Amino acid sequence: MKTIKIFAIQFLVTFSFLNAQSDTSIVPLWQIDSTIVTDVRYATTNNFTGKVLYPTDKVYARKIVAEALSKAHQELLAKYNYRIKIFDGYRPLSVQRTMWEIYPDDRYVANPATGSRHNRGAAVDITIIDSTGTQLDMGTEYDNFTEKAHYAYPDLPKDVISNRKLLHDTMIKYGFHPITTEWWHFDFNGWKRFSILDVKIP
Ligand SMILES: [Zn+2]
Repeated sequence: MKTIKIFAIQFLVTFSFLNAQSDTSIVPLWQIDSTIVTDVRYATTNNFTGKVLYPTDKVYARKIVAEALSKAHQELLAKYNYRIKIFDGYRPLSVQRTMWEIYPDDRYVANPATGSRHNRGAAVDITIIDSTGTQLDMGTEYDNFTEKAHYAYPDLPKDVISNRKLLHDTMIKYGFHPITTEWWHFDFNGWKRFSILDVKIP
């Protein structure tokens, strides 16, 4: 019975991949805003696991999340000629399990028993790039699992503090919530209303 139910849910969610009609559908980010730059490290071996975890470098998210991210991106573009570059959005639960096996530290990787907000399609990992495509200096690389990646780490150059603040303030304005340990990670407000999914990335 449980298997049938899971199958039915997966069918419905897969269906919504193809027919993005509601705010809660998982949609390809490029369909909402093709000007957001993507750099999906989990589709390469250049990530903390050293393994290719995704079959594609396309980013997916809940439609309402992708639309809010687009607004933040468009503001940075209009004001500074900056763009948002995204590393990760929706992440299937099976990928979360692989990450946890490799790095079981819940300050940086969510335990698959409770799931990540990425598994709900309600979180994004991002940075800002300038008009030449160069990343603004945020003090560390993406997925740096040290205290230096904590937003409020005190010993940082002024420009790094101001770059992090620009990213935070812009994202908060458009409905996202930062976390303390990763300057690149933002949850969408109300993430709890989205369920954890294990639908494979198409
Ligand atoms: Zn994240």
